[in-house]
Amino acid sequence: MYQEYRHQLEELKQELELRVAKARTSLSNKHSADWSEQAIERENEEVLVELIREGEQELEQIKKSLARMNSGEYGLCSDCGDAINPERLQAMPMATNCIQCAKKS
Ligand SMILES: [Zn+2]
Repeated sequence: MYQEYRHQLEELKQELELRVAKARTSLSNKHSADWSEQAIERENEEVLVELIREGEQELEQIKKSLARMNSGEYGLCSDCGDAINPERLQAMPMATNCIQCAKKS
């Protein structure tokens, strides 16, 4: 029943893993010869660190959702156990809690 979402999540997961890996690579290749580029570089570094952090958070959620699919809990709120609104799942297949609980946290 959630095959479509599983497919979406797996694609998203691959995309994110690639993005995080790329950001990590550019972060470790940051040594520039030009002194005047250092300010820009520092800014880029912050962007990259943020990108990695966000990407990893999202990956965590995706992995959780996939695990919930395997255990048959997908589509149920992890906080209150109620069914998650299908529209919410469609817009955000990695959602693990219902809109009410999401608002609370
Ligand atoms: Zn809930």
